[in-house]
Amino acid sequence: MLTTTDEKEALVLKEAHRLYGLLCHVSKTKSEKWSLQDCIAAAPYTLAINRFKREQNAVVLAHSYTTPDLVYGVADFSGDSFQLAQQAKQSSASVIVFAGVWFMAETAKILNPSKKVLIPAGKAGCSLADSMTGEDVKKLRSQHPGVSALCYINSSAEVKAACDVCVTSGNVFDIAQKMPGKELIFVPDLLMAKNIEDELSRRGTPKKIISSGGSCCVHDKYRPEHVEMLRRQHPGIKVVAHPECDSDVCALCDYVGSTGGMMKYVSSSTDTCFGMLTEFGLVNRLEAQYPDKEFVWPFGVCSYMKKNSLINTLQALVEPRPDQVVEVTQSVADAAQKSIHKMFELTK
Ligand code: SF4
Repeated sequence: MLTTTDEKEALVLKEAHRLYGLLCHVSKTKSEKWSLQDCIAAAPYTLAINRFKREQNAVVLAHSYTTPDLVYGVADFSGDSFQLAQQAKQSSASVIVFAGVWFMAETAKILNPSKKVLIPAGKAGCSLADSMTGEDVKKLRSQHPGVSALCYINSSAEVKAACDVCVTSGNVFDIAQKMPGKELIFVPDLLMAKNIEDELSRRGTPKKIISSGGSCCVHDKYRPEHVEMLRRQHPGIKVVAHPECDSDVCALCDYVGSTGGMMKYVSSSTDTCFGMLTEFGLVNRLEAQYPDKEFVWPFGVCSYMKKNSLINTLQALVEPRPDQVVEVTQSVADAAQKSIHKMFELTK
């Protein structure tokens, strides 16, 4: 008969093999795949987190840009900002653990205010969300009276509260097209603003996009020469990019779309080699799901997203620090909720 220690070891080994079955094709770094040893190291944490989740009626939502041990070890749902916002809205769990960055966890709290929302990474920022305040938006709007304002979901609750409609990379073009008027304000992504203008012109419904803010520090690094290099080194490759990339880069790609859109593009394609101009975590998800396809990734890691780990997820569940508990001022939450609900309404 097994002793208690033997039983624990057997459980850890079983969990490690479960993880390895999912992660054996997945890159840990550019030159290294996840090994059974890595999975053995992760297994005690995934077992403990999954036990605490059951005890606390907690659910873990993990953005695709977090690490595979979170996505495949403990997440109840993984996806992009829009998909995670939908999951947060409909969750019946008592606790939502949001492995992502601060604005995403804030969105979860706004959409499901009675839940306790925790973010393992604490106040994990985002170069886009941190580029603009609600006051900046109000000032911009006062300079363009009567012009509707869209905000990218990658923005703070105050920015969402100061805009008419929130959008994601998956629905931004359709919503921008539906909005009335020949001009639109779009914040806080300057590069996506240019992509909206280009896409609306292509669709024959041109609008002038007035923008302010910054850019995603991961996607703004790609240049046209990276697309050219991928095509030169991998003849026949399909290059896909996120609309947070520069418009000169997007113009050269085979597909431009959200994280969810890129996953659909890969799944429905008969091609076997894809150049990924996006964050490493999405590459990891695709490698796990499509082991027969090749994914070439030049570079691009979001240090904010990678602040989430198994260790701080466990710690947040057991004894959350104040900076891991998400709260949003009521008046801001009410106004931000309107702009997010408007998005759901327009995407029905
Ligand atoms: S990938 Fe870019 S937009 Fe996304 S969280 Fe990181 S910095 Fe922000």
